[in-house]
Amino acid sequence: MSDLDGGLGRGKRAGIALVDERSILTLASGFIRRYQYTLNPYSGCRFACEYCYARSFAPTPAKRDTWGDWASAKQNAATLITKACQDGTLRSGDTVYMSSATDPYQPAEHRLGLTRSVLLAILAAGVQPRLTIQTRSPIVTRDIDLLQQFDHIRVNVSVTTDSERARLVPQASAPAIGVRLRALRALREAGVPIGVAVSPMLPMDDVETFAHTIAGLEAAEYVSQYMQPRSRTFAAGTRPATLRMAREDGWGLRQYATARATIQRVLGPSRQLREGDEGFAPAD
Ligand code: SF4
Repeated sequence: MSDLDGGLGRGKRAGIALVDERSILTLASGFIRRYQYTLNPYSGCRFACEYCYARSFAPTPAKRDTWGDWASAKQNAATLITKACQDGTLRSGDTVYMSSATDPYQPAEHRLGLTRSVLLAILAAGVQPRLTIQTRSPIVTRDIDLLQQFDHIRVNVSVTTDSERARLVPQASAPAIGVRLRALRALREAGVPIGVAVSPMLPMDDVETFAHTIAGLEAAEYVSQYMQPRSRTFAAGTRPATLRMAREDGWGLRQYATARATIQRVLGPSRQLREGDEGFAPAD
């Protein structure tokens, strides 16, 4: 079984709705205000992380309450991005964050290839945005052939802990940690710039070893963030089960600060472990 079909966590395999949208680029704000546009090929996300801030963007209270149980694919995404390139809405050098309210490589992408079609459309239009892709999915490695054709790109992969036990509490449907690390290595070996997002940092088993593992990836960007105890706009509100685990593990702000210091020491003075939105700057 490959990472692509077997590394996606427990997953929620129910169907996905296909919808037509009127636009695909949204003016960026809040946590990612350094970007011009966000690009979300999907609405909703089947990875269903329980701390997901995108839950607060759900269109109805019912969808907010059932975050992770539904997703829809914007089936005309490639047509819309082609139009945006042709009418000058999206130009070379524009900063684009994909995605702010979904994972562009969630399980349905394996079958639908929607995100791939968006990348193909941008390249076909001859536009070279400064593109940041944010994911936790190994499916992104399928598109290495396209990612290599972007002049300014970074693929951020969330690696929130070294502990599968800790990962399973808030991210039971998301890919395992080892799968994410393999995806990062594959991207790096293919010459695609990567970022490691330890965000939110969950309880760790062995910070020193984790620090050496991610340092060895030679990422262009490293960022961490502590869990947000409360939900608010653009903040990942952490739910009771994860907060309970953190309490039981003695994983508080002091332990987070110590882990940050360890990772920074291992990264050395030439590489900075950024924090919060500082670590989500547009690709160089
Ligand atoms: S992968 Fe990202 S968008 Fe999807 S549920 Fe998790 S945090 Fe939210």
